[in-house]
Amino acid sequence: MILEVLTHPDPLLKQKSEAITEITPEIRTLAADMIETMYKQQGIGLAAPQVGKQIRLIVIDLSGPELKEEPQVFVNPTLELIGEKQKAEEGCLSVPDYRNTLVRHDKVLLKATDLDNNKIELEASDLFAICLQHECDHLDGILFIDRMSRLKRSLYDARLKKQLKAEKQQ
Ligand SMILES: [Zn+2]
Repeated sequence: MILEVLTHPDPLLKQKSEAITEITPEIRTLAADMIETMYKQQGIGLAAPQVGKQIRLIVIDLSGPELKEEPQVFVNPTLELIGEKQKAEEGCLSVPDYRNTLVRHDKVLLKATDLDNNKIELEASDLFAICLQHECDHLDGILFIDRMSRLKRSLYDARLKKQLKAEKQQ
């Protein structure tokens, strides 16, 4: 089932999500729906709070919405930031029609479990590392625009204000 993706400034996106204590059938269904929604919206990652569920669950497929080859589900992910800092361009399904460059670590150490409670521990680099940092931020109520420089953020805010005003007038 395709889920509705919340967009900034929805206050639900600013909340910190709860740890998952048990993999219920509802959580399995949610993960499957999140993957479907991510593909439909042309994304490579999606976090549960973006569909209004404040739990620590993320899905990622770096092969993209065309290939759909590597869907991955991470439950209660935690990251250790390693590697160098690097600049990369990011976008977010909750911040439509906007991309900008951000500084992130180029390597992370991920600890999580999968939907069968198997432990996952892996080192991710480059796009995978950036995507994990972006999705895990969602679990703490942080959007990539919250990590931009103050100048970039104020330009974005002004743009959004204009956009919301124009929508209201329609
Ligand atoms: Zn996002």
